[in-house]
Amino acid sequence: MNEDSSSKAIQLFAEISIDSLKKLASKGRELSSEALIRELQSNKEIKAFFSGKDAGSATINQLEKKNKQTLAQKDKLLKQLQETENKASKINTFYRQALSTLINVLGTGEQKTLQAPLSQFKSLVLEETDIDLLSDALQNLKDVAFRGGIQESAAGDKEKSSSFFGKLLKTPEPEKSESPPFQTIFIKHLRTAYQDILDQFSLYLGEKYLDRLSHLGKQLREGKALDDFLKIRREIIALVSVYINNISAERELTAEFIKEIGKRLIELENYILESLSLNRDQHQTNQGFNTLLEKQIGELRSSVDFSKTLAELKQAVVSRLEIINQALEDKNQKDSIHRKDTDQKVTILQNHLAEMKEKISTADEQSRILEQELLSDPLTGANNRRAYDRTIENEMSRYRRYKRPFSLLLLDVDHFKKINDTYGHVIGDKCLKEIIKRIKPALRETDFLARYGGEEFIVILPETGGEIAQQTAERLRSIIENIEFLHKKEQVKITISIGATQARPEDETHESIFHRTDKALYEAKNAGRNRVVFHNESTIIF
Ligand code: GH3
Ligand code: MG
Ligand code: MG
Repeated sequence: MNEDSSSKAIQLFAEISIDSLKKLASKGRELSSEALIRELQSNKEIKAFFSGKDAGSATINQLEKKNKQTLAQKDKLLKQLQETENKASKINTFYRQALSTLINVLGTGEQKTLQAPLSQFKSLVLEETDIDLLSDALQNLKDVAFRGGIQESAAGDKEKSSSFFGKLLKTPEPEKSESPPFQTIFIKHLRTAYQDILDQFSLYLGEKYLDRLSHLGKQLREGKALDDFLKIRREIIALVSVYINNISAERELTAEFIKEIGKRLIELENYILESLSLNRDQHQTNQGFNTLLEKQIGELRSSVDFSKTLAELKQAVVSRLEIINQALEDKNQKDSIHRKDTDQKVTILQNHLAEMKEKISTADEQSRILEQELLSDPLTGANNRRAYDRTIENEMSRYRRYKRPFSLLLLDVDHFKKINDTYGHVIGDKCLKEIIKRIKPALRETDFLARYGGEEFIVILPETGGEIAQQTAERLRSIIENIEFLHKKEQVKITISIGATQARPEDETHESIFHRTDKALYEAKNAGRNRVVFHNESTIIF
């Protein structure tokens, strides 16, 4: 072998050795001299070289050519490796981010058994741990998740489920690598769990959800693949979402309804309180009712906040309204009794009032009659002496204040004793009545006639001076004189004597006036009877 060939052989040996080392490295084997020797021994060219067979220059040329091809291939592979590493790095970053997000979402779930493996898996993801460790942690997580899900659904006990909606949030793992028997068992449990959920829904949800529930039930029975169950799960979640939205809307409406009821009840309360009279008994009744009403309305308001379901809320409203209604009925009953009592009292009072009015009216009439009797002469019906006293007092006052003139006539039947004696007392009475009957119409409406004593009469002539008084007296005397009294076809002659006077400025009381009249009468008697004497001051006129 020449020097040039020798150097080429050494170069070839070196290159084969480097290739062998790379091979070992790519297989992940230990880079020891024993491993390198084993690799070189398996190389045909090295074997041929060391077995003494000279490959010759043709072989060397062939090797050189191959060497060049290998180098070119190496460069190409290195480039591909670089690209793959970049791609892998990107995918790795993406998956770690995605996993981190998923872990955070799942971490909010209520299943406690998942918490520990989940947090372990999360920390491994974040620490960028070796993929094998990560794979182990994921497997552990899956085991725990599946075991938990199966145990819960297989138990068939609703109370043991983490929560009603918790079951819905468990995601089945649609892994193609799972063995068929496991998937079949898993689907069976999943179907049972979902059916359980639908059964509970049918208890809680109203009629309007029944069609959707029965459709879901059909899908559940017919579902075979995990994908079918994923679809059912999505529909169940959508149904829950609709239900929650409806409940919220209904609760808002109910809250408005309760508020309205509360407002109406308060208005009602105010109306009742205002419209009722404020006597003590009724006031106490109102206070009791008022307190109850306030309490019930307060509880109604809190019911709106604390009721979990519409049914609870309805129950709360209905029971409160029943209590209020009962209280209102009780109150009305009490009011009714009170009203009856008051009505009775009012009727009694009205009767008393009517009786009193009647009595007052009777008393008034009696008083008027009594007064009439008191002031009247029972025989003739004319005014009596008492009436004269009252009238002459008033006339005297009028005279003193207004200086209005008035006159006084005193009449006395002549020899009346003789009439009684001749015809009897009854005839005497008739004569007295007849005298009044004849004199009264001969006087003015404003004149005053009274029987002063036995057979004596007195006349007050308001607004009348002495002259007119004398004329009036003369007319009266004449009337009586001309009466034709017949008794047993026998004519009875009656005459009267009249004393007259007028009020004078020096008269301080009516007595002085009467005294003058009486004096004039006396004088008329003395002068022969059946005549008028007007007495004015000291002058006596016949
Ligand atoms: P003179 O002319 O002087 O007046 O005589 P006279 O008889 O009328 O007077 P006297 O006073 O002497 O008598 C009055 C009589 O009048 C006496 C009495 O019985 C009578 N007399 C009084 N009151 C009544 C009465 O109410 N009815 C009747 N029938 N007579 C009465
Ligand atoms: Mg007389
Ligand atoms: Mg007489």
